[in-house]
Amino acid sequence: MNAVASLPLHDPAKAFLTKPKRLFIDGGWVEAISGKTFAVTDPATEQTIAHVPEGDAADIDRAVAAARRAFESGDWPAMTPSDRGRLLWRIGDLILKYADELAEIESLDNGKPVAVARAGDVALSADMFHYMAGWCTKLHGLQIPLSVIYDPGAQYHAYTRPEPVGVVGQIIPWNFPLLMAAWKLAPALATGCTVVLKVAEETPLSALRLGEILEEAGLPKGVVNIVAGFGPTAGAALAGHPGVDKVAFTGSTEVGRLIVKAAASDLKKVSLELGGKSPNIVLADADLDIAVAGAANAIFYNHGQCCSAGSRLFVAQSIFDQVVEGVAEMAKSIKLGPGLDPSSDMGPVVSEIQLDRVCGYLDAGAREGARALAGGKRRAGAGYFVEPTVLVDTRPDMTVVREEIFGPVVAAIPFKDLDADLIRQANDSIYGLAAGVWTRDISKAHRLAARLKSGSVWVNCYNVFDSALPFGGYKQSGWGREMGEAVLHNYLQTKAVTIRL
Ligand code: NAP
Ligand code: MG
Repeated sequence: MNAVASLPLHDPAKAFLTKPKRLFIDGGWVEAISGKTFAVTDPATEQTIAHVPEGDAADIDRAVAAARRAFESGDWPAMTPSDRGRLLWRIGDLILKYADELAEIESLDNGKPVAVARAGDVALSADMFHYMAGWCTKLHGLQIPLSVIYDPGAQYHAYTRPEPVGVVGQIIPWNFPLLMAAWKLAPALATGCTVVLKVAEETPLSALRLGEILEEAGLPKGVVNIVAGFGPTAGAALAGHPGVDKVAFTGSTEVGRLIVKAAASDLKKVSLELGGKSPNIVLADADLDIAVAGAANAIFYNHGQCCSAGSRLFVAQSIFDQVVEGVAEMAKSIKLGPGLDPSSDMGPVVSEIQLDRVCGYLDAGAREGARALAGGKRRAGAGYFVEPTVLVDTRPDMTVVREEIFGPVVAAIPFKDLDADLIRQANDSIYGLAAGVWTRDISKAHRLAARLKSGSVWVNCYNVFDSALPFGGYKQSGWGREMGEAVLHNYLQTKAVTIRL
């Protein structure tokens, strides 16, 4: 707790961080049944900043039972769509009211700069609730004319009803802790589902603060239950729980496979947002000032800990040196430091495990013959800081070109010909989450957008997210979509009602 007292935090964040943490179950704040807690770390200093109850299968049982009660009876299923919409809007407003506090909590727990958390994570989280508030009153079925061929002359009145799938288990990662909670909770609530949310063990704090906000907004008890705990215990218990109708997961492709297996026992519905190794493509005719800054942002935003990170930088041969040197200069100019220090451009990666993982990839790159034009190692001293890194002399078979690093490391690859060379390489990945294209030629942009096998394509921009725009993966990057109208399908099922008149 002393670690928090000496940090440059404003009073609201300090007050939240120093009070005892509990799980949010059935509208109340409770200890884990086992009584166990785990330590939460500031990745900039490696100091403990809080202890949080370690939920496990018993707590998940309790939370699922509460979510079931809230789904079947009480205020939630009786609430009108417009009241539900107003409630979601209120949650968005409260996130904005507490935005500065939430940004500080997020920065401290995850490592990202406060300004980034405030402008990105927190603002987008509020927007997701505001956007989804509008959908509550617009979920309706169709009246469908029938011509039942084996019943000539009979008349029918048939219609569809979109209905909530029921109790949803949601499991989220640590890279955008509050935003991933918002992306998951807002659409589930808009459709009338109830939720058990398992937050990432590295970053449980902002979601627990969000639990208080849900309470303040007047969400009926048990509609959202928030459990902190570890993947193999709490997460696995939730993914395999017989009382859960659907699992929504964001995280690694590897754990995504485990989720599918766990959900297979009773064929729960599953949606998955998984990893990526996204191609970011600079054509010879691009505006290079914009493209260079865009390529740097595509990989270094959030320290490269973005599923959509532009981690394979394809550059036309004729401008390759100019572009990669430009990106390397930008990498070298990035100031590393604690997220709470306003002069920091980039904070630490989230944990020691993540630091080791990223450094393992840097070692593999060097071993396999890649050369670092910038960065290439961790920063000495306390904290999990990795130098923003630009790798050249890469080959398509290198580990750093094929596998998701999830850190501030980009592999640059020259290409000669768009059709013969680039498209094949860009699509040569098990992943298909996102892609970037930098060009002044609008026809080439559209042609590439059509041929890239990914759920998002950004042209002359990158990492542009909007609550109204669907986001998700082709190939092994996932099942289903987040955000937009598309995400509602994750949480609804269609009933057909047929009446013979
Ligand atoms: P992860 O290990 O897959 O963890 C994600 C979540 O799953 C965490 O809450 C984790 O708990 C839990 N989990 C772990 N093992 C589990 C199991 N056996 N059963 C149920 N739940 C389990 O991912 P991460 O390393 O934390 O996050 C980085 C990865 O997430 C990257 O690969 C990235 O691409 C992906 N990601 C994708 C998106 C997207 O939108 N597509 C967004 C963000 C991140 P613990 O906290 O205990 O580990
Ligand atoms: Mg994890």
